[in-house]
Amino acid sequence: MPKCGSCGGEGRVTWEEDGRAVEDACYRCGMTGVVSEETVLDARIEVVAERLAVSEVERIEATPDPEGEGLGLAAAESGMSLYDYKRQMVWGITDRIGRELAKLSRSTLLSLLDTLDPAPAPAPPAPVVRYMTRVADAEVVRLIAADAADDDELPF
Ligand SMILES: [Zn+2]
Repeated sequence: MPKCGSCGGEGRVTWEEDGRAVEDACYRCGMTGVVSEETVLDARIEVVAERLAVSEVERIEATPDPEGEGLGLAAAESGMSLYDYKRQMVWGITDRIGRELAKLSRSTLLSLLDTLDPAPAPAPPAPVVRYMTRVADAEVVRLIAADAADDDELPF
């Protein structure tokens, strides 16, 4: 069976959160370090679906809104930041596209994946983990900015 791309065959995944390394069981391979061909296929579907979803959200965001409201207002009405709102949109659309792709015949699906994702990693990391990294990055930037602001207020 192919080596799990999420954990590189380790069975455990690590990422950084709040500046420290966090380790957890790899859910993709169930800590075995290997995955089935089906899991590899699911991962490819997920990657392509997410890529399409990101494009779709970018397209929606770039489309002029005649009412002048746009995603910012929709986010505010949901009590979310624009970032979180867009992330949730990407998740929703990824899920929808993924389900549509999974309905295709195997041969159609494989040629579509080969076209949209010509040189895939054996099993790319789950989008959730990549998003967590991006969130962590944003948080680090915020903390550094807050830290810099604090420094300015020091009395010496
Ligand atoms: Zn794994």
